Amino acid sequence: SDSHFPVPLSPQHVDYSLHFPQIFPSPDRSGDARRIEFADVGCGFGGLCISLSTLFPEKLMIGMEIRDKVTEYVKERILGLRTTNPGQYQNVSVVRTNSMKYIPNYFEKGQLSKMFFLFPDPHFKEKNHRRRVISPFLLDEYAYVLKEGGIIYTITDVEELGVWMRTCLENHPMFECITDEELEADPVVKLLVSATEEGQKVARNGGQTFQAVFRRVALSG
Ligand code: SAM
Repeated sequence: SDSHFPVPLSPQHVDYSLHFPQIFPSPDRSGDARRIEFADVGCGFGGLCISLSTLFPEKLMIGMEIRDKVTEYVKERILGLRTTNPGQYQNVSVVRTNSMKYIPNYFEKGQLSKMFFLFPDPHFKEKNHRRRVISPFLLDEYAYVLKEGGIIYTITDVEELGVWMRTCLENHPMFECITDEELEADPVVKLLVSATEEGQKVARNGGQTFQAVFRRVALSG
């Protein structure tokens, strides 16, 4: 349960020296003004984060995962990559947490430029919809931690969930759908399937996917 993992009191309390020791030699974060900008929520085995790490070597990113064993696996995976590729993968880390409760403990208002919700658990039954990682309530929180112009990426192989995530985003005043041209031009979109373990599984089985990619807009008026 939640009592088994520590939760930072606030984003200032997140110890960057534990996550990115080469970039932040001390916990006071002196010497580097960068903050985590990408969050992969429910990162599973970490494939997306690891691909993004080399695609965006100047950005800091973190995977958030609730399962202890899976989080440990991703940690080891990143440490292994750092060892075999000196100087690389220093900008990526993982944390065990319940993202549905603790996102505001990790990120300040407007901190993130990308958030990922890739192949989340479907929670089919009506009474379990409140456990879905995309919901009208949680979108308020994501809008808070995303900067203006920040992008939220969602994808699933479950059509009903795909419709649900798109509908929640369309109905939220702080998000707008990004255009087909922008989707085409964004190198990250291709990774949603090709870099995630879940996406690779779906592709192997020839399954369909449903994506919704939206931008955090400014509130007018
Ligand atoms: N995104 C990965 C991918 O595409 O390969 C993993 C998808 S997997 C089906 C969903 C993941 O979300 C699981 O690893 C699960 O443990 C994690 N998860 C579910 N609820 C969560 C929560 N509240 N906070 C953090 N992670 C969660």
